[in-house]
Amino acid sequence: MQLFNSFSQQIETFVARDDEVKLYVCGITPYDTAHLGHAFVFATFDILVRYLRSQGLRVVYVENVTDIDDPLFERARELGDISWDQLGRQETESFVREMHAINVVMPDHFVRASEQLPTMFSLIERLLQSGNAYLNDGWMYFDVRSDAQFAQLAFASGLMGYDQLLESANLNGNDPHDPRKRDPLDFLLWRGAGAGEPAWPSPWGPGRPGWHIECSATATRFLGPQIDIHGGGADLIFPHHSCEIAQTESATGVRPCVRYWMHVGLVKLGGTKMSKSLGNLIVVHKLLKAYTADAIRLLLAGHHYRQAWEFAIADMEHAQRLADQIAEAARGDVSLETPSIDSLTGWTEQAFLNALESDLDTPRAVRVLGNLAQACLSGLVPDHELPVARQHIRSMAEFLGLRLDKASEEQGPTR
Ligand code: ZN
Repeated sequence: MQLFNSFSQQIETFVARDDEVKLYVCGITPYDTAHLGHAFVFATFDILVRYLRSQGLRVVYVENVTDIDDPLFERARELGDISWDQLGRQETESFVREMHAINVVMPDHFVRASEQLPTMFSLIERLLQSGNAYLNDGWMYFDVRSDAQFAQLAFASGLMGYDQLLESANLNGNDPHDPRKRDPLDFLLWRGAGAGEPAWPSPWGPGRPGWHIECSATATRFLGPQIDIHGGGADLIFPHHSCEIAQTESATGVRPCVRYWMHVGLVKLGGTKMSKSLGNLIVVHKLLKAYTADAIRLLLAGHHYRQAWEFAIADMEHAQRLADQIAEAARGDVSLETPSIDSLTGWTEQAFLNALESDLDTPRAVRVLGNLAQACLSGLVPDHELPVARQHIRSMAEFLGLRLDKASEEQGPTR
């Protein structure tokens, strides 16, 4: 299939190295409800996984849970009667429930940062030995000047020069005035324990890991030094993914650590990115009270994964009408016969697969599916072809994670 690689900024042909595809996607910090921006990321990779598996590839899918993170600790402190650990577990469970509700397949390995500390220690140890990391007063940093390739992904994606990197890092929690650092852009691998903060023992004293090291550790542990596809929100390109590349490649010596980078556009409301701090969130479980899971999936798939988009209630309503039409068109007897390539159904199936193959063009795939559903409902598809057409509507719906009339309201169990 064709995929846009953020590293090369080009559409490339995805070639699997063997019959296995190693996929890693950055997960959530479990401190609040999943919003539509999260759903867009995970629904995108859900469709990618379904497509790759349909091509006979074995996908090993890993996703992390950042349960060691300041926002989680702060939220637990605000709530007062709950520990960060309980809050993290509770919010992770509700995230899984919501993803299940909208029929998003869960990864093969769903890994909490707090369970990965030994892996992080060995990676940090290697960075110390290779001279890429330094320790100062119980705090450990990655020396960005030790890696001549640092931030190539960020530069490819449009950031320019040291000053822009620093400005972007500062907006994302970097402290440029930290006196322990050699360079203001050096990033944390291990933070010494502060009073009243959760802390873990380490070879360098108590404290907690920096955020980026968690993904390097989790990805290399479960997938090895080189993975095929790495995904996440477009807002993670810098610093998170750029730091992840620096750590992993410096520690393992294998370049590139990721063969294809896929970044998913942001979902906005009121012209800005949905975020907890701005309070402009559309949350999945509330949306599910008024609309079906299929409608939500069609709304998401109706936007190309690389585009940022704005939530609009009119689009949500449209997606619901489309979901109802597709479910209605799929109802009735089916036939497993292969449609002749000259028939309306045969053409449609091919056009649908071509769309997914073309950098996961789900908006085109949705239009193709919607057109066939409308053709069935309006009598354009000849009666004798309807059972084959229905079968193909069901199969296309499956690629997009739609349940049709089977179980739109089903609330599945958590794992
Ligand atoms: Zn990550």
